[in-house]
Amino acid sequence: MSKQRIGVYPGTFDPITTGHTDIVKRSLKIVDRLVIGVAINAGKNPLFTVDERAAMVEQELAPLGAGRVEVRKFDNLLMHFAEQAGADIILRGLRAMSDFEYEFQMTGMNARLNADVETVFLMASENHQFIASRLVKEIAALGGDVSSFVSPAIAKRLTERLANK
Ligand code: ADP
Repeated sequence: MSKQRIGVYPGTFDPITTGHTDIVKRSLKIVDRLVIGVAINAGKNPLFTVDERAAMVEQELAPLGAGRVEVRKFDNLLMHFAEQAGADIILRGLRAMSDFEYEFQMTGMNARLNADVETVFLMASENHQFIASRLVKEIAALGGDVSSFVSPAIAKRLTERLANK
């Protein structure tokens, strides 16, 4: 039997959107197992704690993977996290122009750190192209409807959190 292909999909997931979920679904066509890395990322000043973000990711994705998806928190170098997970591939989503420059640079640096781990990009699908956690938070904070960007459970969590801020 050939070796299982393991991918890591890292992100902040503050909170998880339908764009992230779409990338996970499509990643499962490429890898046998997917480790979702929820970055502690204190620098980004997240709205939700890492435990909350990981729990939301877990809750959203549990029905998807049939045991093929695992959620882990990480605070170390992405390449070290990928190596610890035994990953062959780092998966990232790519939206229009805005993500390109940052991702281009990161991929180059990561390839220098470990050329055996490839970064694979999935283009955001057309109905998720414009969804970003940052904008979802801004819309929710101003009382807008975020139901086409996040699941009902996440929309509820956002409303509760923003009401208590
Ligand atoms: P990060 O802080 O690493 O950018 P995010 O949670 O914002 O974390 O995003 C994680 C990954 O998911 C990134 O590769 C990002 O480009 C991708 N992503 C985010 N939103 C979407 C979307 N709507 N469609 C496709 N990919 C997305």
